[in-house]
Amino acid sequence: MNVHEYQAKALFRDYGVSVPEGELATTPAEAAQAARNLGTEVVVVKAQVHAGGRGKGGGVKLAKSPAEAEKAASEILGMTLHTPQTPPEGKLVRRVYVEAGSAIARELYLAILLDRAAEKFAIVASTEGGMEIEVVAAETPEKIQTVLVDPNLGLQDYQARQLAFGLSLEGEQVGRFVTFLRGLFELYLDKDCTQVEINPLVVTEGGELFALDGKLNFDDNALYRHPDIAALRDPDEEDARERAAKEIDLSYVGLDGNIGCMVNGAGLAMATLDMISHCGGSPANFLDAGGGVSEEQVKAAFKLILQDEQVKAILVNIFGGIVRCDLIAQGVVAAAKELDLDVPVVVRLQGTNAPEGLKILEESGLDLIPAETLAEAGTQVVAAAAQAQ
Ligand code: GDP
Ligand code: MN
Repeated sequence: MNVHEYQAKALFRDYGVSVPEGELATTPAEAAQAARNLGTEVVVVKAQVHAGGRGKGGGVKLAKSPAEAEKAASEILGMTLHTPQTPPEGKLVRRVYVEAGSAIARELYLAILLDRAAEKFAIVASTEGGMEIEVVAAETPEKIQTVLVDPNLGLQDYQARQLAFGLSLEGEQVGRFVTFLRGLFELYLDKDCTQVEINPLVVTEGGELFALDGKLNFDDNALYRHPDIAALRDPDEEDARERAAKEIDLSYVGLDGNIGCMVNGAGLAMATLDMISHCGGSPANFLDAGGGVSEEQVKAAFKLILQDEQVKAILVNIFGGIVRCDLIAQGVVAAAKELDLDVPVVVRLQGTNAPEGLKILEESGLDLIPAETLAEAGTQVVAAAAQAQ
């Protein structure tokens, strides 16, 4: 799960990670009031959406008075922000964060993530803050330093100092960085984060350190033990299809192709996506209906796929191990009848009660295309989608 910058910064503050003062606003008048409350010469008005690159997309504006802050907020609120990280249709901005402006001397980069191969935490730092780290990694990899932290030992102060020196921090800045990183690392562990990224971490002209931006990701599987974090969820930032799937306990990931997929088992679902791509098509979703799926869930899953306007053809690929193929067939038929099915559906059933399942499909009177092998199913569904375009 992701959270907004203002939420990340509130958590930073709780852990002693220094951030500029700021206030949330949902109207231009609130933004003006926030600027007045902050009382600094310059404030920064920042769009709150779950995507980076807001600055370049026009979602971050400097303002030199409450009136300017009001104007900046009126331009940003309600805008559809397009950045390299937003979905193709962009993101509607519903709130802005108004923050005290900082006199920036240097922009640095700092992140904590999990290095699965090393089985350690990786702290990544760079002198090239404000740039995308991927670009720095590609063009000037020597400007990125990584320190691995053993989970049994935790972050050692010498490691934090080593990073500080690598970032060319001097004097009191070194101690400030150690405190900053210690707080950040504690937050990362306490709240079961999967990633924290600060870009930029700034050094002000007065030598102070501030997180000017903040991205926090949390491990969904650990959210049950952090109700405070779970409460920060913003449904507006989630894919509507994925949200609906979650409500019926299906594992669903929205993709941008035009072939809807209903498969049971994550491995088979991945193989199905590969087969569709191999045949020259493009899947609209990943959907693992699970091993013990019920007829009701099949119906709900089918509805979900059909609600996606991108979908031009559907592939049902079921291996009946725990689940019975006849039950799947009943769910498909029930959903298709209820929803006035108007896209071609290729069905491949194998395993327990496959013949019974096929019989149900044949007798339903619906225009379903049976397939024997996965390759055959892939070829047929890609052809059907191409024809429907
Ligand atoms: P992002 O574009 O979504 O990553 O948003 P950021 O929060 O990183 O802001 C983008 C850029 O705006 C930063 O890299 C800074 O250069 C600039 N910026 C943000 N806050 C301030 C500020 O307080 N003062 C100044 N001068 N620039 C700022
Ligand atoms: Mn940033």
